[in-house]
Amino acid sequence: MCTCGNDNNNNCNSRRDFLLTGLLAGAALAGCSDKNPFTPDSDQQAAPSGEKVKLLSVDGEIIEVDKAFLKPVPDTHHLTNAEERKGIAGKSFVMVIDLSRCKNLKKCQSACNHMHHIHPGQNWIKVYPMKEAEHTAPYWQPTTCMHCDEPPCVKVCPVDATFKRQDGIVSIDSDRCIGCRFCMAACPYSTRVFNWEKPDLPEEIENMPYSCETSMPQKKGTVGKCDFCPDMVRKGELPHCVSACPNGVFFFGDMNEDSVSNGAETFRFSELVKDKSGYRLMEDLGTKPRVYYLPPVSRNFPFENGLENDNDKNAKY
Ligand code: SF4
Ligand code: SF4
Repeated sequence: MCTCGNDNNNNCNSRRDFLLTGLLAGAALAGCSDKNPFTPDSDQQAAPSGEKVKLLSVDGEIIEVDKAFLKPVPDTHHLTNAEERKGIAGKSFVMVIDLSRCKNLKKCQSACNHMHHIHPGQNWIKVYPMKEAEHTAPYWQPTTCMHCDEPPCVKVCPVDATFKRQDGIVSIDSDRCIGCRFCMAACPYSTRVFNWEKPDLPEEIENMPYSCETSMPQKKGTVGKCDFCPDMVRKGELPHCVSACPNGVFFFGDMNEDSVSNGAETFRFSELVKDKSGYRLMEDLGTKPRVYYLPPVSRNFPFENGLENDNDKNAKY
């Protein structure tokens, strides 16, 4: 069912296209008072086709225009909430994070924060300093939402605001979220953040309708988290953190295609995690994360190279 309440999507799309075309035509009319915008310019090649199209003007009048003089309308298809919740058919998204390459540059974090307009002070990607034991070397560990296949957050949400898509992504519908924070308590990876305050958003973002694909605009009193950038992925592009990392730490891809890429290198997912002894965090909990880690062996940078970007400069690692 379409958002306008019409059960017939074809009818609804046709009507929407008609109205949009009409609005564009109307806007052109309003901007040129002394000239009919549908009269071809002297340098315009189009000849009248004789085929008339009815348009709705901004004044609410039906006008007739020769089809040859219409300009193509860019693709204005907006996904319905149902389409966003369903996800991308045939895909099974996965991420691989190579810990041997991370030097805590936090470009991933700043790109994610910037592109999602996250509230200042909040981060959906965290980079933790890690050290397993007294005599082992420290390393940096970026974390995202793990997009678990058995997500405890989804199981506890009382209003179906957080949900699992067919492509593996765990997403949040802020229009449904009531801010109970059950999901935050249930997530063993502490990945979710609560919007205690109204996020500081540009006007054009604030006035947009909420989209589960972009996770924007974030709203006061709701929960946010890494969303694997489904809007980018749908366009065939990589999530923002993957593209932003100059060290190629993040690989993203599709398990069905058995392929992951950091933009510069592409690997078979199964071979990469097998050859480099990949693992998942807290495997024993049975959450089945979609984020795999490659161990921090033969590291590209000494741990100390990232200390200048760490918030807690007095910490001892
Ligand atoms: S990491 Fe946490 S928020 Fe993400 S899917 Fe798993 S339980 Fe849910
Ligand atoms: S805070 Fe929102 S998303 Fe989380 S469990 Fe409550 S209603 Fe669901």
